[in-house]
This record gives sequence, structure tokens and C-alpha cells, in this order.
Amino acid sequence: MHSVLVIEDDAAIRNVLRVLLQAERYRVVEAETAARAVIEARTHRPDLLLVDLGLSDGDGLKVISNVRTWSAVPIVVLSARTMEPQKIAALDAGADDYVTKPFSAPELLARVRAALRRTARSSDQPPVVQLGAISIDLARRETHAASGDVHLTPLEYRVLECLARQAGMIVTSNHLIREVWGPNRLGDTRMLRVCLKNLRQKLEPNPSHPQFIVTEAGLGYRLRVTDN
Ligand code: CA
Repeated sequence: MHSVLVIEDDAAIRNVLRVLLQAERYRVVEAETAARAVIEARTHRPDLLLVDLGLSDGDGLKVISNVRTWSAVPIVVLSARTMEPQKIAALDAGADDYVTKPFSAPELLARVRAALRRTARSSDQPPVVQLGAISIDLARRETHAASGDVHLTPLEYRVLECLARQAGMIVTSNHLIREVWGPNRLGDTRMLRVCLKNLRQKLEPNPSHPQFIVTEAGLGYRLRVTDN
């Protein structure tokens, strides 16, 4: 049984979340302030954090930054549609994904499941990513398609690996650039866009309508892998 720490100052939304999650057999712990959230996270060691960004005693961002200093627990952010800059800041601070309020129950539960799978996956090595008919062994750096081997450059592997580590989750452009090109190149998105364009040419059935390497406008990218 997985436990979820719900961090939300609005009691009505908190209740909805608790009922939803308990119906799916998650154990739910609640916190209504940022200060309480950090205490509960340390005490209960939940399997996932659901963090509202607008809390009464400050920003949910503070909770994310704090927790990330000592834990790799999956974090899904709840944010209003009007909070784009905060959303990016939250992802850059280490959140794995976000759900926009008002959220749909199936979407929220799908995000929670995907985030929990991410932790399960990161413990078993080596990762093989399946994108439709193409399988990519990231450890061996081999890419096989029905039509034969696909050649990826070392940079392309690194970008793909970075996306695959958080498959199904959103990865910000800044995060990809920092991981692959280093912190000195932050803000320089041109080479990232070129690299992704090449990856899509090699991996997507229809590169102008990508189904695996998906752009999240203004935020980053998401790798949709095929479950096998
Ligand atoms: Ca709130």
C-alpha cells in the first residue's frame, strides 16, 4: 500500500483528494501548510507528495526545495492555470510532474501512478525504453528498429536517457540542458531543440507530429514510452 502526502490549504480540495486516493487504496496523510508539510514528510516518509503551490504560509516551492535536499520521493504539483512561472520553478526545483487545477480525477490518478512507477523503475537497471517498434537499450547504447539498427549520437543518447529516467513525467528544458550540456549553457535552448529534432527524425514515425517525444509548451518535454 502506497502512502501519499497531500499538501493543500483548501480543505474542500483536500477532502476530494483524500476520497479519490483512498478509493484507490492509497494511504493518505494531509498537511495544510508548508511548515506542516515538511514535518509530515519527514515523519511519515510517504511514497509520493502531492503539493499545491499556493499555500497559506508560503509557496509549495519551499516544500519541494526542502524535501529535495534529503529525499528523491516523487513529487506531483497541483497548480492553477495562471501559475505558469511557478510551475516551471517547481519542476526545476525537482518536482516530477504537475496537474492543473481544476483537475480531472482520472488524470490526477494517472499522474500519481506514473510518478510511483518512475521510482519503481529507477531501481531496476539497465533501462530499455520501448518507443513503438523501436527499442533502446540505454546502458548498452543500442537502438533497434524493425528496419535495422538506428544510429544515435552520444548527445542524443544523453538527452534520451535524461527523458527516460523520468519517462511519462515532464522534464524541463533547463533540466535537460544542465544534465547534458552543463550549467554554463543554461538558457541556450537552440542546441537542445536541434538535438530533439534529430531524435524525432530518427525515432518518430511522423516527426512533425511526435507521439513519443512530446513538447509541453513553455515547460519542457515528456517521453511517452510504450508499456510492454
Ligand atoms: Ca491553495
